[in-house]
Amino acid sequence: MSGLRLMAVHAHPDDESSKGAATMARYAAEGHEVLVVTLTGGERGDILNPAMDVPGVRDRLPEVRREEMATAARILGVEQTWLGFVDSGLPEGDPLPPLPDDCFALVPLEISTEALVREIRKFRPHVMTTYDENGGYPHPDHIRCHEVSMAAYEAAADPERFPDAGEPWEVQKVYYSHGFIRKRLELFQEEYDRRGEEFPMAEWLKKWKVEQGDLMARVTTQIVCGDHFPQRDDALRAHATQIDPNGSFFAVPLEIQQKIWPTEEFELAKTRVRTSIPENDLFAGIDHVGSEPEEKK
Ligand SMILES: [Zn+2]
Repeated sequence: MSGLRLMAVHAHPDDESSKGAATMARYAAEGHEVLVVTLTGGERGDILNPAMDVPGVRDRLPEVRREEMATAARILGVEQTWLGFVDSGLPEGDPLPPLPDDCFALVPLEISTEALVREIRKFRPHVMTTYDENGGYPHPDHIRCHEVSMAAYEAAADPERFPDAGEPWEVQKVYYSHGFIRKRLELFQEEYDRRGEEFPMAEWLKKWKVEQGDLMARVTTQIVCGDHFPQRDDALRAHATQIDPNGSFFAVPLEIQQKIWPTEEFELAKTRVRTSIPENDLFAGIDHVGSEPEEKK
């Protein structure tokens, strides 16, 4: 089956390449339409790659990040659009400094929700992906991304909400993408142990306290997408200001990842169609292109 539509809502340029990117590349390759909606321009991101922290990049960072995003989208084979909000930055310090006045996290939810509803009613996705209630990582824009996505999922279907933002559209399923799976790293560690080699992320795994639990317990849906890991990595590297090519993300060779953990993980958060868990397809339960939603679960 092809011709369905998947919308991935992300906080900053580069988030789409580190969370569910291989899944998007797979669905795009299979003939589905995939649209990344990037809520902010990433204006307050730091330059995280020392090689890119040079004049000509630092002074035109917002523009550079738009170029990086265009390259990443092309690599993944997806469409991409900006919602035009301004990055809130990651507040640091004790006490935390106040958020900047112009930032996305302080935009009233009604306003940001309407902007996303407009995109939903235009693209008419069958499935949306976003972050969980903790944002996947505690950046104010990520938490806001969750809030806006969930509000827009409801509001887009409701003819009484935002009547000027297009014809109502019922997104049939919404997922949280879960990137940080402890079990995955543990299996990598075992593979390195078997080979008698040192696991490059051992320190990382050690710092990850067991009592923090494993998001794997919340995963409902695993998408096999190992063939698209090279695209994912290339897309991530396209965000050159944000990604250190020598960083831990690339430490485990692709062959090991493809062998040991060839999937990406999602949690079905809301559905308007019947489906059974566990799933291996974000579109499971959605039968016909343009179909009306089935009986509610
Ligand atoms: Zn982000």
